[in-house]
Amino acid sequence: MADDFFASLGMKSVPEDFWEKSMLWKPEDRDVVCHASAWDFCDRGDFRIKQCTEVTMEDFVTAHHEMGHIQYYLQYVDQPLVFREGANPGFHEAVGDAISLSVITPSHLRQVGLLNKAEDDYENDMNFLFTMGMEKIAFMPFGYLLDKWRWKVFSGEISSERLNEAWWDYRIKYQGISPPVNRTEENFDAGAKYHVPSNIPYIRYFVSFVLQFQLHQAMCDAAGYEGPLYKCDVYKSKEAGRLLSSVLALGSAKPSPEAIRILTNGRTTKMDAAPILEYFEPLMRWLEEENAESPLGWRGENGADVKTSIGVLITIVLPIISRFIFE
Ligand SMILES: [Zn+2]
Repeated sequence: MADDFFASLGMKSVPEDFWEKSMLWKPEDRDVVCHASAWDFCDRGDFRIKQCTEVTMEDFVTAHHEMGHIQYYLQYVDQPLVFREGANPGFHEAVGDAISLSVITPSHLRQVGLLNKAEDDYENDMNFLFTMGMEKIAFMPFGYLLDKWRWKVFSGEISSERLNEAWWDYRIKYQGISPPVNRTEENFDAGAKYHVPSNIPYIRYFVSFVLQFQLHQAMCDAAGYEGPLYKCDVYKSKEAGRLLSSVLALGSAKPSPEAIRILTNGRTTKMDAAPILEYFEPLMRWLEEENAESPLGWRGENGADVKTSIGVLITIVLPIISRFIFE
């Protein structure tokens, strides 16, 4: 279905042998690393996904994420090897997620037969946006803090004697969460995150979570869509596909500000949180009313007076994100 979606935009389908060479299910005869990944074998023909897919909504979205990487590989295939990468690593992570923003709209899911009925009313809209907020907004402080912590470990600012303490300092400072039991330097909780022992940079996901809404908005504009951003589905829009292809085909041959300039039709060369704010604007309004009487935020010091709820988190984090404008 991910392949069909890209094809519906007039973009590229995967080559025939992708389906044979990829590992799309968990094999029974051997141990494998199940963390999903997409691979460019750099011979302009061999592209594969490794994923222990199960038939769940989460894996449906992950499949689109990985196919976004594959689509990028296919689009920049004619570039010299040195330019066959994303405009920046965040771009590479954002493609499939941006497509998913169309795919998971209730109207699209109904259209492709994955949802029997999609009620189109205020309560359902808020439930949808709240679910999306849990996915996209609640992630952002984590996406921000992981490499903040790791870079300070690398620079020595966080010494090897307080790896776990510093980790949880950030977890409470940015996410407002604390461990359910006492943790010590005997524990190494950051190591439970795949990208830490695998030595994969992480700030790209934070960048991607801002950028994917810019991609979504730009494609919706190209498709001539009018209406709230969270309901936009660019399925079958050749215009949206042409715009996305023109950015992806560059690979890293042009600097990322140039890629953003092309994407936004000259409106900006910067990463911009305005589209993610526009997407969640109705939820923001609902939360402000809902939390009008509640004290906002948390205090992390010594575990005192920690107030956390996802609603509070969202009301605080959204305005913070709006201040992030990247070069
Ligand atoms: Zn990825």
